[in-house]
Amino acid sequence: FTKTKVGLLGSAKKVESFIEESSIPEVAFIGRSNVGKSSLINSTTQRGLAKTGNRPGTTQSINWYQISNSLRLVDLPGYGFAFAAEEKLETWGELINTYLTTRKTLKCVFVLVDPRFGLKDSDRQLLKLLDQQKIKTHVVMTKCDLMTQDHLAKRHFIITQEIEQLHHSVVPIIMVSAKNLAGMGDFLNAVKRFKLK
Ligand code: GDP
Repeated sequence: FTKTKVGLLGSAKKVESFIEESSIPEVAFIGRSNVGKSSLINSTTQRGLAKTGNRPGTTQSINWYQISNSLRLVDLPGYGFAFAAEEKLETWGELINTYLTTRKTLKCVFVLVDPRFGLKDSDRQLLKLLDQQKIKTHVVMTKCDLMTQDHLAKRHFIITQEIEQLHHSVVPIIMVSAKNLAGMGDFLNAVKRFKLK
């Protein structure tokens, strides 16, 4: 993506503040708090737009980035609390739900997973919701520099099998590291496929 066009379009802490939909497609990034989402967004946009190291559970928002004239990147709040059964649904849980169930310009959701921990219940619930909504889904294994190739391959296998139980469509799995940029080419190609033609 060319640097000049990247910028924050808007931010919403409540459903009423969602930015207006346009003809430009949106791809959304989502994952548990601390999964490495901000780092990945920054590697994608090369601009340091997303704040990294946010404390989990603090007030969060949906952020829209214009990454070219033909694509918007949507940074959804980190979860891990809102989806837990014992927790009251927080405002940002409602934000995520509303965005995922109503956004017409949403083309694909990239679900970020830390391969060291694998899929958690919150991830499973999200994948089921995406399946129900028939939203195209990719899974991104983050922080791959922290694991050996052997471990990664095993995790990839387990996650693939689990996803088959949760999601009826093909869910490609991409392995990346925002630290050493391994896999970034494949990841960017997957994102760019949703650009307005
Ligand atoms: P977020 O809460 O999902 O936005 O996660 P952040 O991007 O803020 O990252 C959480 C922590 O993981 C930070 O300390 C990052 O430096 C670290 N981190 C993120 N991506 C990577 C990665 O690819 N490799 C390694 N080793 N650390 C990472």
